[in-house]
Amino acid sequence: MARVWEAATRRDTVLRAHPQLRELENGLAVAIKRFALSQCDDSAVRTALEAKSAYLKRHGIPLDYAEPEWACATCQDEGYIRGAPCVCREQAELDRIVAGSNLPAKLRQQTFDKFELKWYSTTKKSARGVTERSHARDALKSCQAFVARVLENRAERGLFVSGDVGLGKTFLLSAICNSLTEARIPTLYVVFSDLLAAIRDSFKPESTQSESRIMNATKEARVLILDDLGAEQVTEFVTNRLFDVINFRYNHNLPLVASSNLGTQQIADLYGPRIASRVLEMCEPLTLVGDDIRLQKQRQ
Ligand SMILES: [Zn+2]
Repeated sequence: MARVWEAATRRDTVLRAHPQLRELENGLAVAIKRFALSQCDDSAVRTALEAKSAYLKRHGIPLDYAEPEWACATCQDEGYIRGAPCVCREQAELDRIVAGSNLPAKLRQQTFDKFELKWYSTTKKSARGVTERSHARDALKSCQAFVARVLENRAERGLFVSGDVGLGKTFLLSAICNSLTEARIPTLYVVFSDLLAAIRDSFKPESTQSESRIMNATKEARVLILDDLGAEQVTEFVTNRLFDVINFRYNHNLPLVASSNLGTQQIADLYGPRIASRVLEMCEPLTLVGDDIRLQKQRQ
C-alpha cells in the first residue's frame, strides 16, 4: 500500500511541475474513453500516447513516473500470487537461511562439485594403508551422504572430520552448509573459538547478547557445524560449554558436524572421555591426509 501511496505522491509532484503534462494525460484519457465507446478508432489514442511520451522524453521524466516502485513487480509486494508464495518470498526465505547460517561470505562458493581430488596423492598411503586420494574420496562421499540423509529427515548421525591444516576440512564443512541452506535447511556454521569468543563478549556490560541466547542457538540449530575443535586453550569453561552443546544435541537427536586438526584419541586426551565418547557415538569419523593444499597451490 505504501508503494501505491508513494507513486501517487510522485505523480502529483510531477504533474504540479508540468501542467502541460496534465493536459496531455487528460487528452489521452478522453481519447481512450472515446475509443472504448467506439466513437473513434485507435489512431487518436496512439497520437495522444506519442505526444505524452515525447513530452516525458523531452523533459527527462521516466516513462513509469506514475508507477509504484515495487521491490517485486511480479506480486506487487504482496508476497503471494493467487494464494501461492511468490518467488520473491521464497528468495527472502532463502536469504534469511543463508544469512542465519553464519557462514563467511568467502566460504559460500565452496560446493561439493568444486572439491578437487587431484590434490590428494594416489600413491602415498596413510598409516591404515589407504591412499590419500581414497581418504579424500571417502570423506567427500560421506559428506554428500550426510546431506542426503538430512534432506530425508534421517540424520541423527553426523560427521567428525579430522586432518592436518590445509587438507580441505573447512571446504567440506562449507560445502555441507551450502548444500543444506540451498535446500532451505537452517544450518549453523561456527568456528569453535569464535563461539567461545562470542560467549565471553556477552559477559561485557555493554553487550546486547546473552550467553544463554548464544548457547541456545547453538544447541538447538537444526544442523550444527563446529569447525576447528581443539585449536583453543582448553579450560573448564571451554569443556563445560562444549559438553553442554554436544550433550543437548545427543539427547535431542540433532546432528553434529565437527572438524579438528586432532584425531579422536587426541580429542579424548584434550576434552576428556565424556566429550570424546559422545562425539564418537554421534559422528562418523572421517580422515583427510596429505600435503597442505594451499602450499601445493603456491608451489605451482
Ligand atoms: Zn513477489
